[in-house]
Amino acid sequence: MSDCIFCKIIQGEIPSTKVFESKDLVAFLDIMPANKGHTLIVPKKHFDDLESADPKILAEMTKLAQKISKAVLEFCDGTNIVINNKPAAGQIINHMHMHVIPRHSENNFKFDWPHRKYEDDINLYSEKIKKSLQ
Ligand code: AMP
Ligand code: ZN
Repeated sequence: MSDCIFCKIIQGEIPSTKVFESKDLVAFLDIMPANKGHTLIVPKKHFDDLESADPKILAEMTKLAQKISKAVLEFCDGTNIVINNKPAAGQIINHMHMHVIPRHSENNFKFDWPHRKYEDDINLYSEKIKKSLQ
């Protein structure tokens, strides 16, 4: 996509700090890292979001996330592996990608989500999901 910043990085029109490249994927450092070493795994083919992505590419991304997680664990204590899927979930760049975020025991920030309660509707939600999965 011509106006996509990640497509421009993949095409070499915008610089990036690349740590990995294969036929289908690139991984480069996030320019505004949650912690140093925060890495983005990006498919070379543009997919807007998780639902439109090729499942084989998603599998490759997950395998690479495991490798990059192992690599950053040389200098950190834990990792978060995150896909922000669609604007409502915080996706800013609409070229689907995965974050590998290094974490340190001494700066243990939390992802700021609430811990709500179900009333009597937990089964309603499980049924909705199960129905769509069929
Ligand atoms: P998301 O909210 O999941 O869409 O995350 C997009 C991420 O891309 C953010 O963490 C940004 O800091 C990062 N980002 C934006 N522009 C660039 C760039 N030119 N190079 C590397 N990372 C970038
Ligand atoms: Zn793109």
